[in-house]
Amino acid sequence: MAAPDESVVHGSKASPKDLPALDRLLREAAPLVAEHGHTLVAKEARALLDALRTQALAGALTRSDLDGLPAALAARVQARMQPAMRAVLNLTGTVIHTNLGRSLLADAALQQVLALMGSPNNLEFDLAAGGRGDRDELIEGLLCELTGAEAATVVNNNAAAVLLGIAALARGKEAIVSRGELVEIGGAFRMPDVMSAAGATLVEVGTTNRTHPRDYEQAITPRTGLIVKVHTSNYQVQGFTAAVDEATLAPIAHAAGLPLMTDLGSGALVDLAAYGLPAEPLPQGMLAAGCDVVTFSGDKLLGGPQAGLIVGSRAAVGRIRKYPMKRALRLSKLPLAALEATLRLYLRPERLARDLPTLRLLTRPQDQIAALAQRLLPEIAAAVAPRFTVEALALQSQIGSGSLPVERLPSAGLAITAVDGRGRTLEALATALRGLPRPVIGRVQDNRLLLDLRCLEEPALLTSQLTVLKEALS
Ligand SMILES: *Cc1c(COP(=O)(O)O)cnc(C)c1O
Repeated sequence: MAAPDESVVHGSKASPKDLPALDRLLREAAPLVAEHGHTLVAKEARALLDALRTQALAGALTRSDLDGLPAALAARVQARMQPAMRAVLNLTGTVIHTNLGRSLLADAALQQVLALMGSPNNLEFDLAAGGRGDRDELIEGLLCELTGAEAATVVNNNAAAVLLGIAALARGKEAIVSRGELVEIGGAFRMPDVMSAAGATLVEVGTTNRTHPRDYEQAITPRTGLIVKVHTSNYQVQGFTAAVDEATLAPIAHAAGLPLMTDLGSGALVDLAAYGLPAEPLPQGMLAAGCDVVTFSGDKLLGGPQAGLIVGSRAAVGRIRKYPMKRALRLSKLPLAALEATLRLYLRPERLARDLPTLRLLTRPQDQIAALAQRLLPEIAAAVAPRFTVEALALQSQIGSGSLPVERLPSAGLAITAVDGRGRTLEALATALRGLPRPVIGRVQDNRLLLDLRCLEEPALLTSQLTVLKEALS
């Protein structure tokens, strides 16, 4: 009988005995060990051999599977060194997308982080006096200049700012809030819970839709420590409504010797209406109206890193800064460096729509986005054919992060439809897009996959992946 030819041998079943010993595999993978060290490579080699053994015992391993084991090992090691946190393309149409990392940092902020984080710096060192400094001082002057505040401090995020503000000003006392402002911001950040976490007793006044000045006045007692206003940034109550604005509430608070704190949520630092965007209340306006403390996020409309900004009167901010919890909530040097660089951009308002990605994306003209959609249409249509068809269309972007919830920005993009009309087919496309080296995140609506191109500033990041996409779909 003739010996079986090579291809038959390769196609034949492999048994666990055919697997190389760990040592042999590691010797064959010597360059990999030289690069990554023994520990990681050996761990992955063991895991690889275990997986192959299981496969062999199930009769599901062929000898050809054993070719190129060093390459398979290299792929495993590489995958382990790949960070889980990755850059994606946000084509959801929501510009400040909380699940996708909110605001993109400006170049100036990125450069500052890069320049400072690999080097010692003056985080808490007074270069003039040569002694210990305070990290707040690095940005307090800027924040005061930009908002008109007497004093400012920063913490880890706005949730921390609200928690700290209430704790510092109303722990063991009552804090008055309108029922219409007892918001949940998402991620279980509910005003009533924050109150109890801060050790303050919540006193609700008014009703869901209407609260009047006398509601606040009647709730003030010797036990009251603080009046809190919350900017209801993630929803809107419409119809028969009344709320007491800060300018009306501040004299009521101050007549009783109480501080007034406003949680602005997003807190733009410039008038967005000047850029053709829906207006958003500014911290400077809140301070001018008489608020003692105003808190807002660093990574929403401000366009910086995650941070909680606290601006206000010297007395109130001083109490907040001295409160022990501040130490646990302080901002680390990494976002602080990015925040300072971002705030400096606000010294040049004329350049802001160019330099600050969040504002640049929010103000991107619809015709420009529509032209991009037209330009990309043929390439994308070719990549997803024949199972999908693509059309360019007008879309509505959202600002996101609870900012200006009912406002929409005229935008444009592509709608992809499955020829077979099945939701599963469309889901497979969405999965393939998320599986790309730079995952593409769109949104499914009305049985179509929509790609809003507002946030696609570098189209090559998408088009360079279309060959991979086409393969993934075939
Ligand atoms: C977003 C938001 C917060 C929380 O801010 P983070 O920076 O995400 O911690 C608090 N209050 C309001 C009104 C908000 O919109």
